Amino acid sequence: MPDRRRLRLFDETIAHRVDAIADAHPWWPCRCGCDGCCRNLGDVPRATAAEWARVGEALHALDETARAVVHRDLDAFCEDPDRQPVGCPLLDRERGACRIYEARPLACRSYGFFVSRGDGRWCGLVEAALDAHPDEASAITFGNRDALDHEVRAALGDTIAMDAWWRSARPADAHSYSTSSSDSVGPLPSQWKRR
Ligand code: SF4
Ligand code: SF4
Repeated sequence: MPDRRRLRLFDETIAHRVDAIADAHPWWPCRCGCDGCCRNLGDVPRATAAEWARVGEALHALDETARAVVHRDLDAFCEDPDRQPVGCPLLDRERGACRIYEARPLACRSYGFFVSRGDGRWCGLVEAALDAHPDEASAITFGNRDALDHEVRAALGDTIAMDAWWRSARPADAHSYSTSSSDSVGPLPSQWKRR
């Protein structure tokens, strides 16, 4: 199966869990414009080659002005990727929205709704919302991030840090982006409802 098809299946699996939780609990805080997690990442973003290829294609599809801004922000990020807090250079800070939302990595899609070894992969807003709704919270079936990571690695290979990806994929200027995927681009998935 082509990597792109595998990636879409993972998109769908995550979206299914996310929508089930958010639709059943209107108080869930994750929504478009809530960008605290993108401004305060726990670590440098990592994704598989197939995911970065999709991100590169989404960057290429931006208009020239936006592309130049992201190009600049990624370059700045690579100068000191470990600087805390880690803010994602793909975030449009004015709008509080991801510039490549439809192509964002799997880790971004699952954040806020998945647990790893019993710990929530989410921010304090989600924690507070769960605390405010203890009866509902105890009945929620969260996604399993460890299982997801294992399946993604098995299907798409190891992850690559954002700075390493950008150093290898960075074009000479903001007009073209190389990607490492040989799969056809196809339409980007949009199962995740914009929040
Ligand atoms: S994880 Fe937190 S900061 Fe991120 S979208 Fe959800 S509520 Fe907002
Ligand atoms: S890629 Fe987009 S969704 Fe993911 S951390 Fe960056 S701005 Fe946020």
